Amino acid sequence: MPTQTDKEKIEAGKWVNCWICETVFRRKRETKRYCNKCGRGFCEGEHGTFAYGVGTCIIHGVRKKDRLD
Ligand SMILES: [Zn+2]
Ligand SMILES: [Zn+2]
Repeated sequence: MPTQTDKEKIEAGKWVNCWICETVFRRKRETKRYCNKCGRGFCEGEHGTFAYGVGTCIIHGVRKKDRLD
């Protein structure tokens, strides 16, 4: 059975861990918001925004000119 993405888990009514908290801060924080671009969970307000029914994590929500590539 394939591993569910955070998006699929949230759509199924489950909580997921914010991927930024996990990756950057090595901590677990549960959320029900997911990024429309990467499909991973993020905590609303701190690590992303949710507007007009679309969630975007801070990594994918930054404007191109602000991105640190
Ligand atoms: Zn977070
Ligand atoms: Zn993202």
